[in-house]
Amino acid sequence: MKKLFLAVVALCCVMPLSAANPEEINLRGYPVPRREIFLPKVNGYNVYKADLHIHSIYSDGHVTPDGRVTEAWYDGLDIIAITEHLESRKREQEYLNFLKGYNDGKPKKAKNWWIYKTGPDEDGILADLNVAHKAAVKQAAAYDMTLIPGIEITREPKEIGHFNLLFLKDANEIYDFDPLQALRNARKQGALIIHNHPGWSRNTNAKTEFHKKAYGEGLIDGIEVANSATLYPNMIDRCLEENLFMAANSDVHGTTAEYYGAFGLRRNMTLILAHDKSLKSVREALEERRTMAYCAGHICGDEELLKALFLGSVKIELQSVDKKKKQRYYVITNTSSFDYTLFREKASGNWTLPAMSSIRVTFPMKLDLKVTVLNMWYGADKHPVVEFE
Ligand SMILES: [Zn+2]
Ligand SMILES: [Zn+2]
Repeated sequence: MKKLFLAVVALCCVMPLSAANPEEINLRGYPVPRREIFLPKVNGYNVYKADLHIHSIYSDGHVTPDGRVTEAWYDGLDIIAITEHLESRKREQEYLNFLKGYNDGKPKKAKNWWIYKTGPDEDGILADLNVAHKAAVKQAAAYDMTLIPGIEITREPKEIGHFNLLFLKDANEIYDFDPLQALRNARKQGALIIHNHPGWSRNTNAKTEFHKKAYGEGLIDGIEVANSATLYPNMIDRCLEENLFMAANSDVHGTTAEYYGAFGLRRNMTLILAHDKSLKSVREALEERRTMAYCAGHICGDEELLKALFLGSVKIELQSVDKKKKQRYYVITNTSSFDYTLFREKASGNWTLPAMSSIRVTFPMKLDLKVTVLNMWYGADKHPVVEFE
């Protein structure tokens, strides 16, 4: 009898008790877990995980805006911006085909949806460019996801390039054939502006004449030092030299599973240091350049912020001493979700310190307890050297 009772208990553990159909077994379980990203506070601030560059079906993405919110939540994010291409929205013709019953049975020809070189005709942009953001608002509230209104200025890449406008009031009031005027229009609305993927479709990251004007007028607040899986190391230097915030965004068009998850990677994140994740606090953090940028296991930022993040993530303890060999053995424990690659002077190779793990390492007596964190960057070829207390 006791055996039978235990068997019933065991069965109940794997089968939903309230299954309506006794002939079906749910093999997955529920709820589905969010992939959390554990990071310590840095300089007293919480580290929020943001993706400030995401596309949806309202330009050329494959996912709905509300789907983007859900996806971001399961990816462990706190803050997102859906930033459709302002000048290139290839799905509009598909919508018109789908909605042909609303057009006297005939699909209309999409107009002014690809205007990044020519500009629109007298009809102007016919789409409501605020819709993608609005379509995500309800889901964002349900998932407690901070949603920043934004759009991406999308011009030819060689001379002008792309710019994300965040904290917009009305995306329909931004377009101007002159891209500099479009940036000024965004600024007039109080937008913060990111120079996106500065090396994309070019053979240099150097400033063009247009960039010199835009930066010169103070219209740029941040740079994507990483976009998708591409890192632009010399843009870290530019951010530090010109006091701009560093961003790493996905620019995802398909699903983050195919961009990152399939490779075992976390998606790109702009790490925002703030007391809370309200729009006001997030904006303040961006204005005060309190960000770091995470891309494919690499973290970019100001040297002091990187050191604080690393030292908050790890602890080191002396395990034993071998006086004969003049060696000390330490255990370094990483309680964060980021892996670290460490280099110790005179060691034969690099040390990998995985997330949520400990490694046992050797320090000769005569060496200080110092490591270089090779996957942290505070310049094109600069990695922080951290000394343990
Ligand atoms: Zn772009
Ligand atoms: Zn984009």
